[in-house]
Order: sequence, then structure tokens, then C-alpha cells
Amino acid sequence: MTQLSPRLKQATPVVVDHGEGVYLFDTAGRRFLDFTAGIGVTSTGHCHPRVVEAAQAQVAKLIHGQYTTVMHQPLLALTERLGEVLPAGIDTLFFANSGSEAVEASIRLARMATGRPNIIVFSGGFHGRTVAAASLTTSGTKVRAGFAPLMAGVSVAPFPHAYHYGWDEDTATKFALRELDFLLATQSAPDDTAAFLVEPVLGEGGYVPASTAFLAGLRERADRYGIQLILDEVQTGFGRTGRFWGHDHFDSRADILVMAKGIASGFPLSAIAAPAALMEKAWPGSQGGTYGGNAVACAAAVATLDVIQSEGLVENSAVQGQRLVAGLRATAADHKEIGDVRGLGLMLACEFTTADGSPDTATATRVHAAAAANGLLLLTCGPFGNVVRMIPPLIVTPAQIDEALALWTTSLT
Ligand code: PMP
Repeated sequence: MTQLSPRLKQATPVVVDHGEGVYLFDTAGRRFLDFTAGIGVTSTGHCHPRVVEAAQAQVAKLIHGQYTTVMHQPLLALTERLGEVLPAGIDTLFFANSGSEAVEASIRLARMATGRPNIIVFSGGFHGRTVAAASLTTSGTKVRAGFAPLMAGVSVAPFPHAYHYGWDEDTATKFALRELDFLLATQSAPDDTAAFLVEPVLGEGGYVPASTAFLAGLRERADRYGIQLILDEVQTGFGRTGRFWGHDHFDSRADILVMAKGIASGFPLSAIAAPAALMEKAWPGSQGGTYGGNAVACAAAVATLDVIQSEGLVENSAVQGQRLVAGLRATAADHKEIGDVRGLGLMLACEFTTADGSPDTATATRVHAAAAANGLLLLTCGPFGNVVRMIPPLIVTPAQIDEALALWTTSLT
């Protein structure tokens, strides 16, 4: 009998039959509270009626238009709609299918625009699994090991991970920027450096928010040296952090913005956005793809933006995030195996540590499995797999937050 790859790692044993809002139902009819949202994708909840309606209507009209052959209306509509949420000055878009592809498109654009080869990434960053994206990823060796030779020209600078270093945010930020300057002076000369690529909140690397001073430091160096600042908002975008973009928390400004996940409620779609003057530096023919900007995905994305705006999901992410983080902190006070509770909006995590502060992967793994058995689906992250994260759909209600907190407390004990 044909089977799936035995190496495909599945976080839970659940075989899902259908989804509704924040719940998934398995093939035996059991209900699970889904605080994974398909790794931060189904922000409008599973099968939101307006997204379903838009996708169904589009399927009946046109499934595949192919944007390098013919233009189609959903792509034009989405381009216009995204203009309402893109930061000022960022006014052109290129669409692809996955986060990895969009990250690659951003690197390609930065290299073409600057004529420089090198990219500087930040420790713990996750940017995808294709060769170039894996080369830029330092959230865990599982993405890179056995895959060499990877893309050349990548240097890694520290991310201001205060908890990891045992410092306050200010010290961690100063350290990270000083090391970045050291790297620019010793390994990757500014004139050889095309881009800084960074997540406003480390995602797979452990749910660590950057700091305002850190992103300001990157912006200042980018401007000083003509380096492009690429913000990977694949996981943090579309309201996940309680602001529309993760970098809104830090008052930062991207040259190239990378987005995916929450954009289309589960349909494969990603994009990069940049000012026209920068985007036109991409070489003719260098941007394309058979499936990019698929008509059904774009129709779903327009409906997703409608739902985010009309249901106030960015605000709900902030408000329910406060409720969830307060509950997690209260629980952590009684559980010393939780060393840190952190995150922004509905992108929250608990880091499990032993008495001496080392990663406690065993407890994180046990609690994660217990939660699934109790009906609460969660994910782990961090280089050591000792961080349990919560990323519910942004439609989550106070009652569902409380339900999750009760299941979390039970799972801890
Ligand atoms: N960048 C970030 C910040 C991500 O979180 C992810 C996916 N977890 C990616 C890029 C890659 O996206 P995809 O899996 O769609 O290729």
C-alpha cells in the first residue's frame, strides 16, 4: 500500500475531517480547539462562510488564469485591496505561492537592485525550506542538515534574544547591533551586502519579538550603506500580532515586505511588496511562475481582507492576546518549569526550562502531547523544541481563550 513519507513529521496524531471556526473535528467526530491555525494561516477561522462563498463563486468562474499569459480580475482586485493595508510608499506587488518562494523573490530583487551578492540574516530566523530559503534559515539544523551545499553569500548576525542571553532587552539589542557592525567590518562589507533579512518576531525560532531600537538600528545602517531591509512578515502579518503588520509595533519601515500565511485563509498565496522604483530593478522576466497569484486564492484573499476589516480581527487579536497572555502568565507563576512567557497579540509562547535555565524539551514535548490528548492543538518551536506556541485563529472569543487556558492548565499537571 502506498504511504506518506515516514519522515514527514506530524505534530499530532489527529486525522481531521472538517474545520469550523476555531475548531477541527477528526474522522471519529471528536472536537479539537485549534490553537495552531494551520501554522498561523487560517486567521479568519476554518472555512469562514465569506471566504468559502468567495472561493466557490470563483471556482465556478475561473480557476486558473496564469498571470504571465492573461491577467485576471481577482488578482487586480487583490492588488488594489492590498493598497489599503500596505505601508506608505510601498505600492507594487509580486505574487507567488508559498512563503519560501516569496522570500527567494525578495532576495533576488535585492541582489538585482543593488548588484551586491551578500545577505545578512539574524540568528534563529526561519525563512523556508527551498535551497535559498534554507540557506537563510537558522532556526534549527533540521532545515539545513544534509542539504549542503547551500546558497553562498549568507552571513548570520545575532537576533536580540534577551531571554536566551539572560539579558534585558536593551543589553541584547546593543549586543546584536554591535555584532552586526563587527560582521559588516570583518565578513560582509557594506558594498557587498544586498540586504538584511529579518522577522519582526522570530517565529519558528521561538516567538521572540525584536525591539524598536534593534529594527531602528537595522534601518539606519540600511540607509547609510544602501542595503535593502527585507522584513519577513510571513508569520507576523495580517493581524497576527495585534497590529496589521508585526513591524507596526516597532515603528519600522521595510524596503521589501514579504507576506504569505494569513493572506488567504488557507489557499496557497504569497507576495512581496516594494516601492515601484525598487521593484522595477528586477530584471525583465525574472518574476513569474505557473501558479502564482492563483485566481481562487486571490478571491479568497480579498474575502479574507473583508473579514479582517469588517470583523475587527486586528483589534480582536490584540484584545484576546492580552487575555491569553495574562492567563499564561498566571499559570506560569505556579509552574516553575515555564521560564518565559512572551509574544505579541495572538502569537504567544511559553518556553520550558530546567532549574538551571537549560532548555527543557522533554517537558515541552509532554505538555504539547497532553494538550492534544485533552483536545487542545498546539505547536512547539525554538531551536531546542522547548517552546510551546499558541496561534489561534484571530476570530477567537474570550470564552474560547478561557477554554484553552483551562485545557492548558490541565495539560501542565
Ligand atoms: N518565513 C516565515 C517567517 C515563516 O514562518 C515561514 C513558514 N513557517 C516561511 C517563511 C516559509 O513559508 P512556506 O512554508 O509557505 O514556504
